[in-house]
Amino acid sequence: MNFSFIQMADPQFGMFSSISKLSKSEVIERKKRGINVTYSDKELEGFEKETELFTRAIEEANEFNPTFVVVCGDMVHDSESKEQLEELRRVSSLLHDDIKLYWVPGNHDVGDKPTKALLEKYRERFGEYNYSFREENCYCIVLNSAICYDPELVPDEWNNLISFLERELEIASRSNITHKIIFMHHPLYLNAPNEDDNYFVIPLRRRSRILDLLAEHEVTAVCTGHLHKNNYKKFGTTELISTGSVGYPLGEDPSGIRIIELTDTKISHKYLSLES
Ligand SMILES: [Zn+2]
Repeated sequence: MNFSFIQMADPQFGMFSSISKLSKSEVIERKKRGINVTYSDKELEGFEKETELFTRAIEEANEFNPTFVVVCGDMVHDSESKEQLEELRRVSSLLHDDIKLYWVPGNHDVGDKPTKALLEKYRERFGEYNYSFREENCYCIVLNSAICYDPELVPDEWNNLISFLERELEIASRSNITHKIIFMHHPLYLNAPNEDDNYFVIPLRRRSRILDLLAEHEVTAVCTGHLHKNNYKKFGTTELISTGSVGYPLGEDPSGIRIIELTDTKISHKYLSLES
């Protein structure tokens, strides 16, 4: 049966304010790392812009009425901020009750180097971070990719994650399901499967374990965020879709959301701008 869902990423409450407080030299340093922020003399407080954009995203979702909405990480900029979390909760509660909402952890939610304490805090706030669910003809797997990015302080978590993924893909492959989709925050790579490690992607050593599983199980798509701009690649039969941010954009693409449609044979998707 055909159905559609909406993927969002990086509403990141607090990022506009944080960026506005960077000095000129900090902006230059970020640009060198490929993070395209804009320097402004005006400092912002709070998260008015994020509220406006995320509210528009939720309103679009209510109008489109998909089966579910998935938010692919970086819900807030600062996981220590109660205000950012409360505003995220307030706006997300505007989503109609009959549209399911799934959360995916990002590096701003659990840290660039996750610890047991940060992971536990996430679990209390949002629930499990590696989990699966089934919708119609699609088996969906959510992964905590911050663990793939840097599991040094939580090595067992990486072992758990990769065993979980193997097990879930085997279950999906044995059942009579058309599509398998993985949701996580970090992209696997930007341009080439064997590219060097960098801030934006999962390091090669762990990336290749995941890529092998995508090929073995003919995964339909891996949907990610983190880049704050769109990026599309194809790995074998798997579509790698990185979706621009609901919040602060870091590239040419405006803030936006993605509508994904699944039929019995194919996947199609389009990016919808939130800019008026
Ligand atoms: Zn991120």
